[in-house]
Amino acid sequence: MDHSFTKEQEALRKLARQFAENELEPVAAEIDEQHVFPMENFKKMAALGFTGIGVPEEYGGSGGGAIEEVIVVEEFAKKCMSSAATLSIHLIGPHIIHQFGTQEQKEKYLPRLTKGGEVGAFALTEPGAGSDAGAVQTTATYDPETDEYILNGTKCFITGGSRATILVIFASTMPGKGTRGLTAFIVERGMEGFSHGKIENKMGLHGSETAELVFEDCRVPAKNILGEKNKGFKIAMMALDSARIGTGAQGIGIAQGAIDLSVKYMHERVQFGKPIAELQGLQWYIADMATKTEAAKWLVYNAAWKHDSGQPYTLESAMCKYNASENARFVTNLALQIHGGYGYMKDYPLERMYRDAKLTEIYEGTSEIHKLVISRAVLNK
Ligand SMILES: Cc1cc2nc3c(=O)[nH]c(=O)nc-3n(C[C@H](O)[C@H](O)[C@H](O)COP(=O)(O)OP(=O)(O)OC[C@H]3O[C@@H](n4cnc5c(N)ncnc54)[C@H](O)[C@@H]3O)c2cc1C
Repeated sequence: MDHSFTKEQEALRKLARQFAENELEPVAAEIDEQHVFPMENFKKMAALGFTGIGVPEEYGGSGGGAIEEVIVVEEFAKKCMSSAATLSIHLIGPHIIHQFGTQEQKEKYLPRLTKGGEVGAFALTEPGAGSDAGAVQTTATYDPETDEYILNGTKCFITGGSRATILVIFASTMPGKGTRGLTAFIVERGMEGFSHGKIENKMGLHGSETAELVFEDCRVPAKNILGEKNKGFKIAMMALDSARIGTGAQGIGIAQGAIDLSVKYMHERVQFGKPIAELQGLQWYIADMATKTEAAKWLVYNAAWKHDSGQPYTLESAMCKYNASENARFVTNLALQIHGGYGYMKDYPLERMYRDAKLTEIYEGTSEIHKLVISRAVLNK
């Protein structure tokens, strides 16, 4: 059993780490404080090929798969969770358009998303449909005269929703049929009747805008259906299976970032005449943080490897996301504790990391929903 990364993957990690240190870390506190989406940095990510990971070069992508995505997102999350999440969620769009799109859709939309610096979004959640995706109320009614669908409804909590120009939206084409009536549509900003509503004021992830989307008689050409009509639920679930590996990568990255800061601080901070690294109580914290994070990493890498080698990975992606997100909260909490009062101050990044880490337990499916997925698979229900 060989666990090593290839030379190309190691080179990618180096590139992502340098980018995170040079471009993301210097602005992480500022974008958190000012609630700014750093569009300039997103364009730089596109120029370096990060926004095209997992899509073949013929569509402007940079190739690779889930392992490459994990490497980059992990490195970004060590320094700036908002940027890591922005990239990770952006990638859902190009991935599902590549997987389910027609040739025309791929040629039209992928180069813009992979290398064109345009932001993508994935819009499933609604005010009344969170964990229960079958409760989606947004409707898409067919108009045979124009061969268009007319979308009406509201999506909420959509990452990048205020910035995205190409969005995959899930709407009901058979109201009352729940998950069996969901259809995925590619919607472009500028289509009449589509706008974004309020941008949420969140606990964390301030450098990523989370927006409401509003559809008022929005006409979308029938050729913009992604995959098959009424088969959108399968697309959403497959997209989430894959995206959860990205959230796992966010979790292991932010945890490792918090460990690195804690180790440095423990050697520098002196109390009772010696560095606090010599206090056994804190050494035990570090032992727990490092061990659990190492375990979380291998669950994430294993899910990514299964994904890339074409094996079933629903269980592994649920386990890696559930574990990495709970661990991210656990580790950032202890890291803040190790920093004492300074950890609670905005002069240090720990309080931001603690707020940001919490989100990983909620989005892309909550921990409770992941326990459902995992227990069903284990019990073979
Ligand atoms: C910052 C942020 C960004 C987001 N980005 C996106 C995005 O880009 N696109 C998108 O579509 N969505 C996005 N979401 C939505 C996110 O995926 C949902 O918030 C999440 O799935 C939970 O749905 P909910 O908030 O409606 O909670 P609910 O589903 O109402 O859950 C409430 C509580 O009940 C629990 N619960 C629900 N059902 C069960 C069950 N069957 N068994 C046990 N417990 C259960 C939940 O775990 C939770 O604790 C985002 C959310 C946030 C906060």
